[in-house]
Amino acid sequence: MVKLINFKWQQLILSLGCLLLIIGCQSLYPTTNPDAKPLKVATDPTFVPFEFQTADGKLEGFDIDLMNAIAKVAGFAIQFESLPFDGMISTLQAKRVDGAISGITITAERLKTIAFSRPYFKAGLAMSTTGYAYAVREDNQNIKDFNSLKGKKIAVQIGSTGADFAKTISNAKISTFNSGPEFFQDLLNGNVDAVVSDAFATLYAIKNGKLKGIRVVADLLTQEYYGIAMPKDSPHLDAINKGIATLLSNGTYKQIYQKWFDAEPPQLPDS
Ligand code: GLN
Repeated sequence: MVKLINFKWQQLILSLGCLLLIIGCQSLYPTTNPDAKPLKVATDPTFVPFEFQTADGKLEGFDIDLMNAIAKVAGFAIQFESLPFDGMISTLQAKRVDGAISGITITAERLKTIAFSRPYFKAGLAMSTTGYAYAVREDNQNIKDFNSLKGKKIAVQIGSTGADFAKTISNAKISTFNSGPEFFQDLLNGNVDAVVSDAFATLYAIKNGKLKGIRVVADLLTQEYYGIAMPKDSPHLDAINKGIATLLSNGTYKQIYQKWFDAEPPQLPDS
């Protein structure tokens, strides 16, 4: 009888021990829950006002606010990682980051290799169309429209939709750069005749005096939507889409939009 009781106690202590060990291991290695560790989100902070670094190195911008707000409603933590724009798609393909927010246009070509959230930004609201702007030096009166770009020297950002567009301009001499500040500098130096880049970011920089001496030629060419890029079959896609939907319906999206653009946000499509 005594032996039997002893045996049961031993069994109980052993099972309790196992249970504690399992709980302990789970909290040490919370990999079973994909949302338990922070999501690594890539961004190229050279795209004012969507993502940029303040003088003291702080990451700021429309995309940064939006991503933080999505994380808050979706209940996950975020760790931003700076990455050159050109390397973003391949880094996502290799699943070295969980996502990227960087004013990335949703294109059919990119959708072949990565996934996108629902559209979160319609570019070029102020002009009621979206897409590219031709930024030229203020003293250059020769460039008025698309046709006057033929055969001209044009600077673009490597891997951008602006770079793809520049390829369609006949006889254009295209120079490629890693980021906005660089190609605008080349334009100011007179090394190129024009820059083809996202209208919204360019107009914002001109308005805020960051691109003195540059004007945008009125004609805008394409309509684009930005999406949060993720690896194909990402387990976070659904939570991020739901997060965007929540922010659109609860007024947070509008607040963030007004903070950066001082305007009413336009209607966004669901997909
Ligand atoms: N929207 C453009 C693209 O996706 C450029 C974005 C950027 O420079 N960050 O190619």
